[in-house]
Amino acid sequence: MSDAERPTDDHVPGDEEFEPIQVFPEAEEMDLRPGADNCYKCSTCDTNCPVAEVDDEFPGPKFQGPEQWRLKRQDDHDIDDSVMKCSNCMRCDSACPSEVPLSQMHNTARAEYVDENMSKLSREYLRNRILANYRRLAPLGAMFPRTANFVMGLSVTKWMGEKLLGITSERDFPEFATETFREWWTKRGGAKVQSEEKRIAYFHGCYSNYNTPEVAKALVRVYEYFGYEVMVPEQACSGTPMFANGMLEDARRAAETNVRELAAAIEDGADIVAGCSSCSMSLRQEYPELFDFDGTETVAENTWDAIEYLRVHEDLEGELEGTSVGDEFDDFAYHAPCHSRNQGLDGQTLEVLDAIDGVDAHDVGDSCSGISGTYGWKAENYETSMKIGEEMFDHMEDADARTGLTECPTCSMQMEHGTGYEITHTLEVLEAALVGPDPSAK
Ligand code: SF4
Ligand code: SF4
Repeated sequence: MSDAERPTDDHVPGDEEFEPIQVFPEAEEMDLRPGADNCYKCSTCDTNCPVAEVDDEFPGPKFQGPEQWRLKRQDDHDIDDSVMKCSNCMRCDSACPSEVPLSQMHNTARAEYVDENMSKLSREYLRNRILANYRRLAPLGAMFPRTANFVMGLSVTKWMGEKLLGITSERDFPEFATETFREWWTKRGGAKVQSEEKRIAYFHGCYSNYNTPEVAKALVRVYEYFGYEVMVPEQACSGTPMFANGMLEDARRAAETNVRELAAAIEDGADIVAGCSSCSMSLRQEYPELFDFDGTETVAENTWDAIEYLRVHEDLEGELEGTSVGDEFDDFAYHAPCHSRNQGLDGQTLEVLDAIDGVDAHDVGDSCSGISGTYGWKAENYETSMKIGEEMFDHMEDADARTGLTECPTCSMQMEHGTGYEITHTLEVLEAALVGPDPSAK
């Protein structure tokens, strides 16, 4: 479309009148005008938004991004509270043909809304702060995992969570592992393989550390199988739940730690690898969009998804030829998380698993799972979250497989909740095929 044909917005002042708005005073470089001006109102983002599809009251990504930005510039409008209904799935980002930085606009708008319009004494703020800072609370649960799991599993705990905080009582809280990944790593004595040429720094994230250390152990064993030295640097939460809840200062603190530690690992010759699609998304896209610490770009450029890295740097499929995983673990219903799609990784798992003898992996379609991190944990979003997930649940049931498969921890919660399937991570399938069970690792 030529400039002459492109619809104009009479309300947007010309260049001579332009004054950038600093949503974050610290971020001198943040200027979203070029992105807003690129929007030619095609509404493709709106038709790809899973929340707008089922919730008639949600105005959609075009409003949350370019339109809200324009309104804000014209007459100092308050940010509309509907921005808190965006689940941060980021599907609109990849759908936009004009590269409008929609999620960057949503993240900045959400932060401004929380800073300026949300009471810090409200139940919503307290609940969102708790959900966004799982990394701060999880160590308490991990200290007494059996007691924590018992208490969190009681109906009265769930009832109180909903009544007092607005956390839905419909879902089961994820269980804490009896030994965290980092405890296991220390007990094991760290890396079993040393190599200056092949070295990765593992960003395990919160969930693999506190809840599913079997996924993190699988990554270590698979990478060591390929001769990599695995480093496990100090790390904070990736920030994903903080972005989604407008807690930008919390995210900034976490990102500063992560960038410092991961940049140091890169200096030591490592590439950064993450097993959770939302963590890799955050390091690769959200950090450089929102922060400018020394090393932010370097970390983004050197971060990889764990499966993607092996496909690019090793002959992963060739290595899997002729392997098998046993009859009980060879039939999967696979859901590609939205944050994998956003990184262009949605097809890779099925291609990789196809190389393993006897494995049958069914793609359950391209819909969003609906939970989107903390979004589906909020009582007011539960019904919408389940409506969004319906298409995936139906496809999973039609697949009639033995096990659900995905690379996102909260998608796995939704898959299990909506269908009763047991869910596993692709790294665990690779571990079973390449390395086999290791009783000492469990
Ligand atoms: S898809 Fe992009 S260009 Fe189209 S309306 Fe949305 S933001 Fe604007
Ligand atoms: S991030 Fe997801 S929920 Fe939010 S506006 Fe974009 S598509 Fe909709």
